[in-house]
Amino acid sequence: MTPDLVIRNARVLTCEPSRSGLGLIDHGAIAVHDGVIVWVGSDDDRPGATRVIDAGGKLVTPGLVDCHTHAIFAGDRANEFAMRAAGKGYLEIAAAGGGISATLGPTRAATDQALIALTSARLDAAVATGTTTIEIKSGYDLTVAGELRLLRCVAVCAQRPAPRIVPTLLAHLVPPDRKADRSAFVLEICDRLIPEVARARLATSVDVYCDEGAFTLAETRSILGAARSAGLAVRGHVGQFTDLGAAELLSELSALSADHLEQISDPGIDALAAAGVVAVMLPGACVQLRLPVPPIERLRRAGVPMAIASDLNPGSSFSSDLPLQLWLATTHFGMTVEEAWLGVTRHAARAIGVATAGRLASNVPADMIVWSCDDPATVPYQYGASRILIDTVFVGGLET
Ligand SMILES: [Zn+2]
Repeated sequence: MTPDLVIRNARVLTCEPSRSGLGLIDHGAIAVHDGVIVWVGSDDDRPGATRVIDAGGKLVTPGLVDCHTHAIFAGDRANEFAMRAAGKGYLEIAAAGGGISATLGPTRAATDQALIALTSARLDAAVATGTTTIEIKSGYDLTVAGELRLLRCVAVCAQRPAPRIVPTLLAHLVPPDRKADRSAFVLEICDRLIPEVARARLATSVDVYCDEGAFTLAETRSILGAARSAGLAVRGHVGQFTDLGAAELLSELSALSADHLEQISDPGIDALAAAGVVAVMLPGACVQLRLPVPPIERLRRAGVPMAIASDLNPGSSFSSDLPLQLWLATTHFGMTVEEAWLGVTRHAARAIGVATAGRLASNVPADMIVWSCDDPATVPYQYGASRILIDTVFVGGLET
């Protein structure tokens, strides 16, 4: 078999765990056939191919993996951004009708076609900045029928050639009109919504926002227990504002990831490390909400794998630009360049339970980026410049 594509003369950042660090092959090449990588190695040993691209010594990396987004919603909350910039606090903004609830009305009112069009435009923007696999959470309807509708719209978006989409059911909040009977609302999620999502294969995991103002630890345990019983993976929004002990719960349930972690105790970190749960860092939202930086050094010392995601959402992070998150992670959060790259590749893939994304190796889909620079540090260093730094994005061996 002659490969149909070889990219040669490249600095190949494999992000392979079998190689040390970022798994860099300095004078490397990659062979692709039928959309799948069939060979990675030294340029001197490269096979022949129908088509050969000379990367000119530039960087070739895995396509980026955005493991935490809320990409399906209607409306925007630019007014809240302006209020926050003017020094208004969370409670004042909520009193003025802001917060997650402010997105429920526009999302519920939008037609399927409108939601699919809005989401598709966001996905185009994500691919343009290097994202080839993206997780999308539901969570801006908060009725059983409405959450199912959002996930069906995500399934329509998933028929696009790029990016690859991993759908998640998110128990985001108890909506204002269900506050009086919140236990009945939690039961609906457990007994009606989750079983139907599992039956119709509308999501591969269930995420719960466990924090003050969202779901309690006991409610989170009920919802994630129902998810596990239905055969779905579990994740959580943990300790963004208050540590309720959700890291320990997620560890006990062998969760894929614990996300945010601005507030987390040492026992919580130890539990994540022991259970192999990925810590997902969301620096864009952290900066915009002026929250304290998560305890990177403690996570690092404990050996917790760290991912980085955009948290694309209309309230605290209206951006799908992962290279920009690399910059925030390496400057504001104090992560190393190597940690940041693994955070948007291999570790991000692990956070969504996809073993074949975020690395360049034989038998994984040929999702990769040819950059116009040769140093991995250049990507966060020249922040905001990804449209100049990215030469070509491939998904399944095809240029996007
Ligand atoms: Zn989120």
